[in-house]
Amino acid sequence: MRPEVLAQPAYQVADATGLIKLDAMENPHPWPGDLEDAWLAALRDPQLNRYPDAQALGLAAQVRTAHGVPEAAGLIFGNGSDELIQILITAVAGSGRPVLAPEPTFVMYGVLARALGVPFIGAPLNADFTLDLDAMRAAMAEHNPALVFLAYPNNPTGTLDDAARVQAIADENPGVTVVDEAYAPFAAHSFLSCVGEDDGLMVMRTVSKLGLAGARLGYLAGTPAWIDALDRLRLPYNINTLTQRSVAFALEHREALDAQARGIVEERDRLSERLTGTTGVEQVFPSQANFILFRVRAGAGHATFAALRDAGILIKDVGRAHPLLADCLRVTVGRPDENDAFLAALGQALAA
Ligand code: PMP
Repeated sequence: MRPEVLAQPAYQVADATGLIKLDAMENPHPWPGDLEDAWLAALRDPQLNRYPDAQALGLAAQVRTAHGVPEAAGLIFGNGSDELIQILITAVAGSGRPVLAPEPTFVMYGVLARALGVPFIGAPLNADFTLDLDAMRAAMAEHNPALVFLAYPNNPTGTLDDAARVQAIADENPGVTVVDEAYAPFAAHSFLSCVGEDDGLMVMRTVSKLGLAGARLGYLAGTPAWIDALDRLRLPYNINTLTQRSVAFALEHREALDAQARGIVEERDRLSERLTGTTGVEQVFPSQANFILFRVRAGAGHATFAALRDAGILIKDVGRAHPLLADCLRVTVGRPDENDAFLAALGQALAA
């Protein structure tokens, strides 16, 4: 095995048994009861003896209409957007050109680049987690990246950067810019309508955050020529029948999920305000996602995370992930009762 593979720990998922789970940006709400019954009816006669629709054509047509993917754009599905990141990086592996992303950001860009033997360049964000345009320009000029990933909004910071700055990077990038819109259901702006004509820009989405994390489906929209090329790397039948049917069903009833997303945004803003008034919370970063990054008093990050877990609440300790994230914690917006339990436990942990 290559040393990069052996040096890379497996992706760690914390054990949430018995805990209020606010660590993974899931939608905390189950589907309304009547929808669940209708969904089960839609899965009847699943034909699991047959392979799935290899191109997921029916689903693709629905996604195009539901999310407004431009007609000029091509579309490819992945088993979660993680698989699309893997396909994108596989496509440029061996070109000698690196992958670039601002940091801190979603860890899988770096993890998959390293695993595939592709150099990964992280250009630091500003201390307030906005894009450092000069740092990105300098990195693009120096390294000539094949791919730039921009999570928009960013994980773990929640920041939705200024659209003009994102566009400037896409315009100046010698390679392809992938705008990763995993948190689009909670954000005020999207680049999806810009995809199709400009072959330097792709937009990636997922159904994970809007209530279908268990289904594992992501999609990437870009110029047809690029999407055709990436399709050659997609494993046959990568989107299983149950996922295709379930997501198609959810899109037919998307008003229910959209309403949940609107509720999560309201709850995010309430949680943000309450966090801002909590003694011992030093900074609450503005979020356009379904989670909030906050910083507790110097040196207290890891202990606060542990105290919350002991109190039955699982959030994410991101303090070791990057120097800019010292004493930062990330909480996913849960149901109002879960958020209240979190706020109460956090107050206690920081008062101790
Ligand atoms: N992009 C970003 C920015 C993310 O935060 C995540 C999930 N944490 C993903 C992609 C992966 O999503 P999926 O569940 O579709 O693999």
